[in-house]
Amino acid sequence: MSPPSHHPVPTDILQEVFGYSAFRGQQAEIVDHVTEGGDALVLMPTGGGKSLCYQIPAIARQRAGHGVTVVVSPLIALMHDQVGALEEAGVHAAFLNSTQTAEEAQHIEREMLSGRLTLLYAAPERVNNARFQAQLGSLYERGLLSLFAIDEAHCVSQWGHDFRNDYLQLSVLHQRFPKVPRIALTATADDITRADIIQRLQLEEARVFIASFDRPNIRYLIVEKDKPREQLLRFIQEEHDKDAGVVYCQSRKKVEETAEALRAAGINALPYHAGLDADVRRRHQDRFLREDGLVMVATIAFGMGIDKPDVRFVAHLDLPKNIEGYYQETGRAGRDGAPAQAWMTYGLADVVNQRRMIDESPSEEEFKQGQRGKLDALLALAEAIDCRRQRLLAYFGEDSKPCGNCDNCLNPPATWDATEAARMALSCIYRFHQSNGFGFGAGHLIDVLRGKETDKVRQYGHQQLSTWSIGAKLSEQEWRAVLRQLIALGYVFSEGEYHTLSLTETSRAVLKGEVQLLLRQQVAPPRRTKSSRTG
Ligand code: ADP
Ligand code: ZN
Repeated sequence: MSPPSHHPVPTDILQEVFGYSAFRGQQAEIVDHVTEGGDALVLMPTGGGKSLCYQIPAIARQRAGHGVTVVVSPLIALMHDQVGALEEAGVHAAFLNSTQTAEEAQHIEREMLSGRLTLLYAAPERVNNARFQAQLGSLYERGLLSLFAIDEAHCVSQWGHDFRNDYLQLSVLHQRFPKVPRIALTATADDITRADIIQRLQLEEARVFIASFDRPNIRYLIVEKDKPREQLLRFIQEEHDKDAGVVYCQSRKKVEETAEALRAAGINALPYHAGLDADVRRRHQDRFLREDGLVMVATIAFGMGIDKPDVRFVAHLDLPKNIEGYYQETGRAGRDGAPAQAWMTYGLADVVNQRRMIDESPSEEEFKQGQRGKLDALLALAEAIDCRRQRLLAYFGEDSKPCGNCDNCLNPPATWDATEAARMALSCIYRFHQSNGFGFGAGHLIDVLRGKETDKVRQYGHQQLSTWSIGAKLSEQEWRAVLRQLIALGYVFSEGEYHTLSLTETSRAVLKGEVQLLLRQQVAPPRRTKSSRTG
């Protein structure tokens, strides 16, 4: 083999092999840096064009005599598609994964060992396999191991929802083959994940490229939950008739029920969750990709690596775990750049449930704290009365102006000052604990505040409390909004099977009037009834 010569010009490869006229965004810079042998960490949103960032350096370096690029990817379907497209374009590429026969795998290994292969895609468990590492060692000895590309690099972080143990082992690549440059890529870009990737993959020396995470064609809408299934149906019928979309639900049961309800209403909807037969899942996924205007009702099991350009909406019936999840899931809308909507319905029960799921998970306390912080950021986004996009981007460390394309920008919400109401609620929670020695849930609290004589009220004699019926002017729904925000912001703590409410260390600030709570006027703005107006 001839010694490495000068690298071919990347723009020539872009045009010749891929048929594109120009690089997008930071692609050119990244490609140059990696082709020259630099390490890189690339944070770029889904659809931003990450693949070319390693494919072009792989081709350039192969042509210059550096041999094989190994791409680590957890997504078998994606490997398959990319290898097909590359071979189609005349680039010698292959993958190794568990779907192959021994003969197929041996053939590919021979191609790899000859150094002729340009890109080899492999699942992380393969890369950690001793036999495979010995083969890489042989290539390395002969100067034919060109580059490591680690796709979906956030899988190395335990903070994300895609954590994979095999990713943790990938730092071995650097230890065993220190001279081989590496590029790690991900669409998840919050500070914690970024720091995790750098540390765990030992990428301290890598240049970090951060693309804008803005998806300007996606309109963000978050509405207060009130008969969610009807809200969803109205949203689809009025704004997305015959459009392709994804509806995310938290549980398999809810997926099934929602898909059924949509079908009953004449919408072409299919369920997808990990509890369905692999066969059924594959069939539903295929139909979603091929047919027009299909709505997939799914758990988050659906979506990773699904590349359908014309998804016009993503709807959430339940709150995602955190902002990364929200961003990833909503990001599946509008990949073609045409207008798309990310719609979510959100209510008090979501806040309570998500908090409880964290509390009850078997994880370490430190991990739970991290999860709570992430949930808080998402709740702040859901409660926001200013630009959603600005908040979303700020979470990923990006400064921006109000976007003009989210619900809050388009219809600035009228707000009302809920500070006084919040103080009433907190005092009442305090009285419960004082008089009974334990707390009660939101439903009972609201009954007491509104002066509704229920059996439970009589049982505990709560008509005697000083806070009895002090909040009669507000509707039940308004009280739910107040409590939701109090819990979301951490002024009230909800715990246990009965979602018992209690005060927190920060409640005092609200009680003392040091904090102002502004709430959006939602479906039903605070009405002053005729009698109370004169009163
Ligand atoms: P990601 O991996 O970041 O989600 P992809 O690499 O799959 O994104 O790219 C998304 C789409 O954009 C693909 O269809 C790809 O071919 C296209 N693309 C990427 N870079 C360019 C470019 N410079 N010019 C035109 N199309 C591009
Ligand atoms: Zn906005």
